[in-house]
Amino acid sequence: MVALTSGVVSVARTLDRCTVLGPGVRAVVWVQGCPLRCHGCVAAETLPFEGGTARPVAELADWLAGLGPVEGVTLSGGEPFSQPEALAALLDAVRERRPEFTAMAYSGFRHEALRRGTAGQRALLDRLDLLVDGPYVASRHAPLRWRGSANQRVIALTGRYEDLLAGPDTSAGLEVSLAADGTLSWAGVPPVPDFRDRLDAQLAARGFALRRADPAHPEAPGSPPGPGDPDGPARPGYADPAGTGAGDPGAPGDPAGRPREARHDSTHDDKDEVRGEP
Ligand code: SF4
Repeated sequence: MVALTSGVVSVARTLDRCTVLGPGVRAVVWVQGCPLRCHGCVAAETLPFEGGTARPVAELADWLAGLGPVEGVTLSGGEPFSQPEALAALLDAVRERRPEFTAMAYSGFRHEALRRGTAGQRALLDRLDLLVDGPYVASRHAPLRWRGSANQRVIALTGRYEDLLAGPDTSAGLEVSLAADGTLSWAGVPPVPDFRDRLDAQLAARGFALRRADPAHPEAPGSPPGPGDPDGPARPGYADPAGTGAGDPGAPGDPAGRPREARHDSTHDDKDEVRGEP
């Protein structure tokens, strides 16, 4: 039994309304830290286990339960199954107040590996309606619904969305939002593998530069692959929030002298964010 409101989630970013990372209108929690290093991952900022914001489960549950017409939450990252106990507790706490609240999660590990994983990982699986599994494989990039490469699967773990999955398997697109403070952000699965490079170029052509979200983690180019084996067992080290394994791709610092400052928060191959100050 998972304690309902104990623990904290290391969070990279949250969004209270999104229509491109799962069915219907959903909140999104991007967690901080991933043990994998998929080539072409655009989530560099969320790969280190250091950083992020420690958010108490109870606080996140209050936020989710208090949201208006959203039907559920999507857990992304980073790697949600690196902190499964806290996320399972979060879903339990929200469903105490909103029993119909649905849950979807992304994982760089395959479903079979997670089933052989830790008790916490199985507990989180048991609370999900949908799982998008497997690592991002750039050579198999495709404009598919809610995922970036053809090896990734959308798996119905309950009957809640089974009918929906019979529909067209095409990209849900990207969603752009502008916050009251002028922050521009976007979420969704980029339809092309070099989307971020193209975005960088387009913004640069218009006088914007990108700055990564977490300057505490400067980029280490040429990082070796991470330790995780997506098809292998989700071994205990995978769930260790301190176990960053091999190289930390991090993010480049903000080059000086750019005409305008923008902030580039990328949190997964299937979600990304740009914050700008036009
Ligand atoms: S694509 Fe997902 S699983 Fe792969 S390194 Fe990036 S965040 Fe981790």
